[in-house]
Amino acid sequence: MTSVHDEIGRLLDDAGLRYTPGRRALIEVLARRGPSTLPEILAAAPGLTQSSAYRHLGELEAVGVVQRVPTPGDHTRVELADGLTGHHHHLVCDACGAVIDVELDTDLEAAVETALARVAARHAFVGERHDIDLHGRCRSCAPGPSGAASPTATRRRS
Ligand SMILES: [Zn+2]
Ligand SMILES: [Zn+2]
Repeated sequence: MTSVHDEIGRLLDDAGLRYTPGRRALIEVLARRGPSTLPEILAAAPGLTQSSAYRHLGELEAVGVVQRVPTPGDHTRVELADGLTGHHHHLVCDACGAVIDVELDTDLEAAVETALARVAARHAFVGERHDIDLHGRCRSCAPGPSGAASPTATRRRS
């Protein structure tokens, strides 16, 4: 975590912002929890008020430390930027808003990059990064064998 905090300190410094205890508390929550909603952040960092957390998130997003995870409805989640934690993708539950971080195999990730670069070139577009998320239903929200969603449903073995 030391190197991530150093990197964030530099990014903030470049933007003329100080790495205050409030900003640091917020970053530590995101580093620990991964994609989080504002209520989850506030629950995990009791010293932060809603207004300061909201303000910090806006500033951290503007300097590229924090990014939004596209989630349905009012389940907006934020996480540390890809450049800080490592490139990954998301499984997004459109029912409950749960987000699971996943990584693709190296070969597959390279194939995705190549395919996107080819499409971009066709449009004279200069690509910088990609977001690919899979939307659907998480284990708790997917209809079980009986057709009813059950949080305790176990996966069927075939
Ligand atoms: Zn769900
Ligand atoms: Zn990728």
